[in-house]
Amino acid sequence: MTNTIFVSGLFHETHTFLRDKTELAHFKEVSLYHGQEILEHNQDNSSPMDGFLSYAREKKWQVIPGVQLAAMPSGTVKEDVITYFRKHFFSSLEKVCDSIDAVYLVLHGAMVSENTPDVEGSLLEELHHFLQRKGRDIPVVAVLDLHANVSQKMMDYSTCMYAYRKNPHTDARDAAIRAAQLLDHILTHPDVRKVYHQSRHIIPPTGLGTAAEPMKSLLMHAAAIEASDPDVLCINVMGGYAYADIPDCGFSLGCYTKGDTEKARIYLAELMALLEENLISAYPPENSLEEVWTILRNEPDVTAPVLLIEASDNIGGGTPGDGTGILAPLLATGRKGIIAVINDAVAVQQCYGVGIGKEITLAVGAKTDHFHGDPVQLQGSIRHLSDGRFELENKNSHLASISGAYVNMGSCAVIENEQAIVLLTSHKTPPMDIGQLRSQGIQPEAAAFIIVKAAVSHKQAYDPIAKRSFYIDSPGLCTSYLERLPYQHIGDKQVSLTTQKGINA
Ligand SMILES: [Zn+2]
Repeated sequence: MTNTIFVSGLFHETHTFLRDKTELAHFKEVSLYHGQEILEHNQDNSSPMDGFLSYAREKKWQVIPGVQLAAMPSGTVKEDVITYFRKHFFSSLEKVCDSIDAVYLVLHGAMVSENTPDVEGSLLEELHHFLQRKGRDIPVVAVLDLHANVSQKMMDYSTCMYAYRKNPHTDARDAAIRAAQLLDHILTHPDVRKVYHQSRHIIPPTGLGTAAEPMKSLLMHAAAIEASDPDVLCINVMGGYAYADIPDCGFSLGCYTKGDTEKARIYLAELMALLEENLISAYPPENSLEEVWTILRNEPDVTAPVLLIEASDNIGGGTPGDGTGILAPLLATGRKGIIAVINDAVAVQQCYGVGIGKEITLAVGAKTDHFHGDPVQLQGSIRHLSDGRFELENKNSHLASISGAYVNMGSCAVIENEQAIVLLTSHKTPPMDIGQLRSQGIQPEAAAFIIVKAAVSHKQAYDPIAKRSFYIDSPGLCTSYLERLPYQHIGDKQVSLTTQKGINA
């Protein structure tokens, strides 16, 4: 018997401390698809939706595509985006509701809109009541990003959710397939029990890499439980997303089982104890640039390139990508061989006005707000102009989890002078794939210093070419020092090991 699955996607990681709101136009830049468009645009594009569709093909499921929205991480989502999604989601579901066997959703899990702190929880609740009114008791299964801020509502109103296991998210497509496999199982064995535990810890993105503690041990332990207990369908270790000032912000655990819930509770307690044991690793310290120069002086064998990680302007975490908190002081030292990427559509247009091969002097970066440094005066020659489109070199790049394999940076310009090569983009683009640089004629291996606006998601692309890597404490709203942010709605949750929240707002 062929199963018929209704599929849709709603994907955004929302940074609530940013001033600018996220509008429907921002979703149009990445994914805004209806019906058949979802099938066309996700075919073989390495995204989670592609993962689901490939599994559905293999199982000969009939897929009914509803609506898909995805945008780059950014500020609080305008309410009309949610209204738009709900309208199209429920109207397309209404038409097929009587004939479907399940609903499958590609979610991020950390979306916040102007009026709704828990967008996914509210959507799943509304979906649950909708299906109930229609007399349909069918599974609702979702794939989630590892940075999801999971709520009790999300747990209560879905049958099963499966989260990525890796950060960088090289397994996003595979996780979507695993979620589809679980759905396949649930279609014939619908009895699923859930246990959920929300911790009191909010962990910065730099503390959530899965090759490092505490996530490494947590995921290994969770995988060992999954392998040893046949009743357990899956255990999600949810790192959470720190820059959402909402009650459900932070690290959480979920277990889906066909067996004893008491046993599942013990598993989650073991995992929580493991987190508490390794908590210090969840808050890695950062260096100043001066400290980096001292370290490099003491390590004369270290060769280029050296990565200077600007986690405070982590584009994959939502900030504007135009921060100059490292570029400005680095240029001021007189050092050479610098590669930087700054998102600055105005500067790109100035370059287009002057033309390729010509000299230009312009102010670059720090134009979005006053949290990410000051504009930098740059003088150099315009070496490259392009439409900014490129294909991922690595199809399993973290970037594929957001946008698929074909990336649009908007119009781009490359400026070069004796100190630096600066790529200017029009759409902020996280540094998750080296194709971003090479497509613009930039060879990162030749650099002395590369400024990387990321926390962990760059590692798969940049660590293989880097000789040394430093996290730099610089200004920005994706700071790893969460106690600097003006949290108001997180209750008694902890944002650091030593200090209380909201000190330096
Ligand atoms: Zn993520």
